[in-house]
Amino acid sequence: MRVSNLLLPTLREVPAEAEVISHQLLLRAGFMRKAAAGVYTLLPLAWRVIRKIEQIIREEMDRQGAQEIMMPIIQPAELWQESGRWDIYGPELFRLKDRHGRDFCLGPTHEEIITSLVKGEVNSYKQLPLLLYQIQNKYRDERRPRFGLMRGREFIMKDLYSFDRDQAGLDVNYNKMYEAYTNVFRRCGLQFRPVVADSGAIGGSDTHEFMVLAESGEATVLYCADEKCGYAANQERAETVSATSRTNNAPDELQMVVTPGCRTINEVTEFLNVPSEKLIKTVIYSTDKENVAAIVRGDREINEVKLYNVLDCVRLDLADEQTVHSVTGAPVGYAGPVDLSGVRLVADIEVIGLVNAVCGANEKDKHLVNVNPQRDFKPDLITDIRLVKAGEPCPHCGAELQEARGIEVGQVFKLGTKYSKALGGTFLDENGKATPFVMGCYGIGVTRTMAAAVEQNYDDRGIIWPVQIAPYHVIVVPVSNKDQNLMQVAESIYNALNNSGVETVIDDRPERAGVKFNDADLVGYPVRVTVGSKRLANGEVELYLRRDGETVPVPLEDVVGAVKERLRMMDERCF
Ligand code: ATP
Ligand code: MG
Repeated sequence: MRVSNLLLPTLREVPAEAEVISHQLLLRAGFMRKAAAGVYTLLPLAWRVIRKIEQIIREEMDRQGAQEIMMPIIQPAELWQESGRWDIYGPELFRLKDRHGRDFCLGPTHEEIITSLVKGEVNSYKQLPLLLYQIQNKYRDERRPRFGLMRGREFIMKDLYSFDRDQAGLDVNYNKMYEAYTNVFRRCGLQFRPVVADSGAIGGSDTHEFMVLAESGEATVLYCADEKCGYAANQERAETVSATSRTNNAPDELQMVVTPGCRTINEVTEFLNVPSEKLIKTVIYSTDKENVAAIVRGDREINEVKLYNVLDCVRLDLADEQTVHSVTGAPVGYAGPVDLSGVRLVADIEVIGLVNAVCGANEKDKHLVNVNPQRDFKPDLITDIRLVKAGEPCPHCGAELQEARGIEVGQVFKLGTKYSKALGGTFLDENGKATPFVMGCYGIGVTRTMAAAVEQNYDDRGIIWPVQIAPYHVIVVPVSNKDQNLMQVAESIYNALNNSGVETVIDDRPERAGVKFNDADLVGYPVRVTVGSKRLANGEVELYLRRDGETVPVPLEDVVGAVKERLRMMDERCF
């Protein structure tokens, strides 16, 4: 491919709307353009990267015995109503009507469609296990589409579904997929970490997310400092080690004290001169069913995912001021669990061990001191609802937990019989008994993986593609278009590389060398072959390695061999 023909609209300026590196660089380097919020056109180089990632995924899925299919994007509402998700999915589901007024949605995921398919086509245990996947556009009307391809409203996903006769079969396939995902992300040249993740209200079922570690990641990952232990979890899910604080203090008499204008934990700790771990933080939430008061120690934060999971609700939001007032009888900032009625009280385990604690008095400018949870209030539920932070002990080995930011590029999930039961998907077992399929689902964000690769591979000049997913391996740059001899040499290197299977472009534009070099750095070709008159006089050209910034003179006759050798070395580094 000639750069003069390539649709590669690079930009000099950083686009104002782009907050994260991958978004900025993919726009600047001419890989994509926005069509609407969270909706992008992928230009030729981006599409080449995507196809390479897809190819790696295909090879790894096929290696595990999976079969590729293509399901419809448009899905009938009836299936979603059967599974119960038509209502639960909420505004994230893109809904539409056909000309007859029938309801449809654009698929955000395909559990319903595939379960209904397999229900119709597979009826004996002899046909199991079955692994089916597709690579396709998905649609989610995200509340906050942002960061370019990271959180789009239309994006490419690989989704695979496993069907087994029993839990043991599911376990086998889950492990296979875990291995396949590990291979995929390793082969894409990414640094990643599988972490234990939240499985939602169902609880108990296994799920892991594959996190690419990068500063811009939306997720927080906690991992054990002890490599041998290997515990790693999404913060949403990370378990606490609940060491209930033991003191020998006897409970004192409950008292109300005046705390003028003290609404926040800081204000109260300063005013009353007590440490924040002696406080009880009370936060009022509204769900679709009820109001909830959640309490944690003053120095802790509530983990809303854990709270959501124990509440059995569809929606969980922070209560507005009015609700707080009507529940507690006081303005925001004075809520407390003592004598609080008409709400469900959910207490974090740690709170229960407190002695002579401090909490809001449900009255403006007042707090209670010497609060003793065992004596002064009765929670409806006592469970782990707090957020774990770096520095706390690992729940497996007790070593210190560390924190990192992660981009979720994939997730593997044991669904069990949730969808097969809801949609009546059964097969006949050896005894002729109708049994629901035991299912798993496994997703990889293909477009997000491309963005994540950029987040991990760039410098101040642009993208540095890992060689296995680079749009092209090599760019040949003749430094002057006017020198006929130089152009001829460049053309012949370009042809020789392409003929030997190295994906190569030539920058044949009548631009200054500096412009070509800058563009090549921005786009991120792993190798640049610079053809200039000085070296050529010695029968040499120069290889420039994008990642290391190294330049190597190479005799003309060795160019193809030298380039291949370098690419092979880079490739190995990816493995
Ligand atoms: P998130 O928590 O980031 O919203 P999710 O857990 O809802 O993602 P899954 O249903 O597990 O996503 O989808 C599988 C994969 O699809 C994710 O691991 C992620 O890589 C990708 N993905 C999900 N939502 C988006 C999106 N809006 N834009 C781009 N990729 C996405
Ligand atoms: Mg997920």
